[in-house]
Amino acid sequence: MEDIVFFYPSGHQAHNQPGHPERPDRVEAIREELENAGLWQAYPHLAPETIPDEVLHAIHEPGYLEMIKSSGAHSQPLDMDTYLTPQTWQLAYNAAGGAIAVAGAVWRREAKRGFALTRPPGHHATPNRAMGFCLINNIAVAAEYLLQKENAKHLTIIDIDLHHGNGTQDIFWQRGDVSFFSTHQSPLYPGTGALQETGEGAGEGFTVNLPLPPYSGDKAMKAAHMTIILPLLDRFQPDMILVSAGFDAHWRDPLSQLLVSTNCYGQLITGLVNWADRHCQGRIALILEGGYDLEAGSYSALAAVQALLEQTWQDPLGSGIESEEQVWQTTLDQARQIWGL
Ligand SMILES: [Zn+2]
Repeated sequence: MEDIVFFYPSGHQAHNQPGHPERPDRVEAIREELENAGLWQAYPHLAPETIPDEVLHAIHEPGYLEMIKSSGAHSQPLDMDTYLTPQTWQLAYNAAGGAIAVAGAVWRREAKRGFALTRPPGHHATPNRAMGFCLINNIAVAAEYLLQKENAKHLTIIDIDLHHGNGTQDIFWQRGDVSFFSTHQSPLYPGTGALQETGEGAGEGFTVNLPLPPYSGDKAMKAAHMTIILPLLDRFQPDMILVSAGFDAHWRDPLSQLLVSTNCYGQLITGLVNWADRHCQGRIALILEGGYDLEAGSYSALAAVQALLEQTWQDPLGSGIESEEQVWQTTLDQARQIWGL
């Protein structure tokens, strides 16, 4: 078994709009950092899988997919911040196929862990709407694949991106086979992800939102994981953990006031790795989402990969300023009340 497998989105540079924060350099900086550490060359890079129609259509409406495919030809933006180039449809499809390849390899125990450098990102994409730089919801497609094709029974998606994973939440809102956690800065784009949003119908009690006020910092993120996410994983007992790995919660990120450090990212992943080792045969894979400061993104991604490999990591950037006021304590107290913890 390989210790880790990667997916690299070949040709992703063709999805680009000058001046836009969601730019090819993001993935290239991560790749270079993994290369400098000797990790990129040491482990396999998987090709994207073909996505079965029944999997893709369980996540996105066919009419919506057709619209992305055809609008790529004239490259009109889909909304204020989600652009398209003629290559975007194929690259978005490949990113979701790459997420499947990595998650599938970990599921089948061909690899212990996985990290898909998916680009464009996916967690804001809803069943019928592209938004927030996202077109196809890569992590949702990977989860659906494991459920439909690999006989997974219950999966957990943990979204540690700065922003609420509204698309992933919408997709699994009424389903009990995927539990969804999101820690995110609030208030912030896209405005969803309140504590009280907990799912509906068969999905009631499987969506867990932890909206953190600006300036919460590492302590809040660690407390959210230690006192809420890990105890609820014990309750949900997923067969595998998929992480929406956005590194834009870092204190250096231009979109963030959450003040998370690289060291904290490593610690959060270590906590999830340890849980996975105890409960689900170590099955955990990371799917890349946001992260717009190149140094913060690449050091944090390296720390996350080293945490997946159970190695030590460095934090050359150090910590952000920790907030004195612990406003976030109130949020986490309320969350523990809602979830009976
Ligand atoms: Zn984000």
